Amino acid sequence: MENQTSHLEENQQDDITINNKFVLKGLTLDELKNYFSKNGEPRFRGEQIFNWMYNHLVTDFFDMANVPKVLRTKLKDSCEIMTLQHVDTQISSFNGTKKYIFETVDKYKIESVLIPEEDRVTLCISTQVGCPLDCKFCATGLMGYRKNLSAGEIFDQYVLAAKDFGKDNITNIVFMGMGEPLLNYNNSVKALEIFAQELTTGISKKKITVSTAGIAPKIRELADKNLNVKLALSLHSCFDDIRSSIMPINDKYPLHQIIDAVKYYARRTRTRITFEYIMLEGINDRNEDIEELLKVCKEFPSKINIIPFNSLKHMNPTGIAAQIRPTNKDRIDEFVQRLRENNITVMIRNTQGDDIAAACGQLAILLND
Ligand code: SF4
Repeated sequence: MENQTSHLEENQQDDITINNKFVLKGLTLDELKNYFSKNGEPRFRGEQIFNWMYNHLVTDFFDMANVPKVLRTKLKDSCEIMTLQHVDTQISSFNGTKKYIFETVDKYKIESVLIPEEDRVTLCISTQVGCPLDCKFCATGLMGYRKNLSAGEIFDQYVLAAKDFGKDNITNIVFMGMGEPLLNYNNSVKALEIFAQELTTGISKKKITVSTAGIAPKIRELADKNLNVKLALSLHSCFDDIRSSIMPINDKYPLHQIIDAVKYYARRTRTRITFEYIMLEGINDRNEDIEELLKVCKEFPSKINIIPFNSLKHMNPTGIAAQIRPTNKDRIDEFVQRLRENNITVMIRNTQGDDIAAACGQLAILLND
């Protein structure tokens, strides 16, 4: 695991070009101001372009009405805004969940999922093509790692989804799609900085969540960034041996390190931590699992999201992944009741988009080779 993840933590992208054009999407406000100032333009041009790209979501320089025509032409010739193309949308016949398939310029396909619920519409965004962490219950893990997404590619998933569904209709953003956001730390943070400016998306920080498998040092680093977005930890077991068997990253960052980091995050950002917990029959749904979960949850402000396991049949899994079975509904209800009796806030996440392989843990593109 050491070798598998360490190069990725360094594999960050800075200046990006597409067809020899400099990509502006993904630059923060300060970076845009610096870019224009270095190119002989007033710094406020950076603010204007920021507003057009991230607030008005324009995809063509000629739509930037308050930018002089000469500059618009210059930008069109030398810069690029869009980093993704919309390839396909699949819609769940049960509940309207939409799975968008987007393509990067270098022809990788990624997925984002839009989940309409009664009181919210959540867009679940990818941060990597595939994922190196190989969690045994996750289709993305089974497809392996291909590349980190740039900050622009992360943000453009929102741009394209908002163009389809309406910017004002998307209320929540979760970095919970394909990939581990904290292994693509710089790009994820840049995208978060852009999302977290209410001026851009209109979405409050309280409604932006980063989900991690537990990259302990990066959790601390993110806490110190003062972005104050919410953090979700894919916990799935409070026992190191079991967690390692279904989440190999636990060998590198064992539970005591992760829990310490998460506690630090909660204290530093004054936010409540969400524990994601996929119910796996005979693996993490026993009475001793409830006891350990109670101990962890009582240490700091937290809540638990119980997630029914979604089938990975579409991935033809082998090994442990092929043996995993979902906990039955009665046992999930019993498990949840025991936690609630102990004053723990527990949500049961409904399976959204199972029929289009868009439910939690099911995202994977089989075409990227
Ligand atoms: S659950 Fe998350 S971290 Fe684990 S393999 Fe899937 S995408 Fe990667």
